[in-house]
Amino acid sequence: MNNSNVKLSLIIPCYNEEKNIAPLYDLIKKDLGQFHGTYEMIFVNDGSRDDTRKELKKIHAKKDYTKIIDFSRNFGKEAAIYAGLLEAKGEFISIMDADLQQRPKYVLDMVNFLEENEEYDCVAAFQKRRKESMILRFFKKLFYRLINKMTKITFVQDASDFRTFRRNMADAIIEMKEYFRFSKGIFSWIGFETYYMPYEVEKRANGKTKWSFSKLFHYGVGGIISFSTMPLRFSTVMGMGCSFCSLIYLVAVVLKRLLHGVEIPGYATIVGLILLLGGLELFAIGIMGEYLARTYVETKKRPIFIAREKLSYKEDEGKMS
Ligand code: UDP
Ligand code: MG
Repeated sequence: MNNSNVKLSLIIPCYNEEKNIAPLYDLIKKDLGQFHGTYEMIFVNDGSRDDTRKELKKIHAKKDYTKIIDFSRNFGKEAAIYAGLLEAKGEFISIMDADLQQRPKYVLDMVNFLEENEEYDCVAAFQKRRKESMILRFFKKLFYRLINKMTKITFVQDASDFRTFRRNMADAIIEMKEYFRFSKGIFSWIGFETYYMPYEVEKRANGKTKWSFSKLFHYGVGGIISFSTMPLRFSTVMGMGCSFCSLIYLVAVVLKRLLHGVEIPGYATIVGLILLLGGLELFAIGIMGEYLARTYVETKKRPIFIAREKLSYKEDEGKMS
C-alpha cells in the first residue's frame, strides 16, 4: 500500500549513460518544475561499465528525492524496471529512458490525463513517426502480426515502455515474478485500461543504442515464448499433416504397383524427403528445447536482479521539488 506523500515516481534504467545523467536530471527539474506534488527519481544503474555510477552519486548528493539502485552486474532493462517498481512509493509511476529520447514534459501530460480520466489506469506513449529503416519496420510489423495471432492478449505496435500508471497497476506488475521478463507482454497480460498517447521521440543524446538486430530478434522470440504456447503445437500439427500425406501417398503407390506393375524409382525423392523431415523434426525439438530451457531456469527461482548498493532519501530531508 502507498502511504507516503510521494505523488510520482520516475523509474529510470541506466546502462552506460554517463554523459546523459546530468542533462537528464536538469531536464527533469526544468520540465517538472510545474509539478503539483512531490516526485522521486529512482535511477537504476544496470551494471554500467562507464562512470554512470559516479554521475548518479553526484545527483544523489543533491539530496533531492533521489534513489539509486546499483546492480551487481548488467541484468537488463526489464530487471531494472522491476527493481525500480519495488522501490517506487508514488501514487503514479513513470518509466523513462535515460538517453533523453523521451522528454520528461510528457510525464506531466500523462499524470494530468490520469487525474482527469478516472477510467484509465495507464498512459502509454506511442511513436507517431518512427525514425527507423524500412527493413526493421517490416520485421517489427511481422512480429506484431505473429504475436497477436499466437496470444490471447493484444500487443500494440509502436507502444513504448515510456508510460505512466497508477499504483494498482504497479502492484500487479510486481506480482509478475517471472525471470524472463517481457514488459510489453506483462503490460498487456495484467489488463487495466491503457490510453495510447502519441509523442515525438527524440534522438538519443549521447552514446549508442543497446539494440542490434540480432538482440531484437532474440528479444522478440523470447516474447513469443513467454506469452504463447502455440509453437509447441507446431509438431503435433506437422506430424498430423505428414502422416496424412504419407497415407495418401502409400495408397497411391500400392495401387500403381497392383494395377500397372510399375516399379517407381525414387532415389532423389527419398533423399529429399529424409532431409526435409529430419530438418522439421530438429526444428520441432528445438522449439521444445526453448520452452524446456526456460522452464529449467524459472524453476531455479533465481532473483531477477542483485543490488550491490541502494541509496535512498529521508522523507523530510530532501528539498521539496
Ligand atoms: N538499458 C538498461 N539495461 C540494458 C540496456 C538498456 O538499463 O541492458 C537502459 C538504457 O540505459 C536506456 C533504456 O534502457 O535508458 C533504453 O535503452 P536504449 O536507448 O539502448 O534502447 P532504445 O531506446 O534504442 O530502444
Ligand atoms: Mg534509447
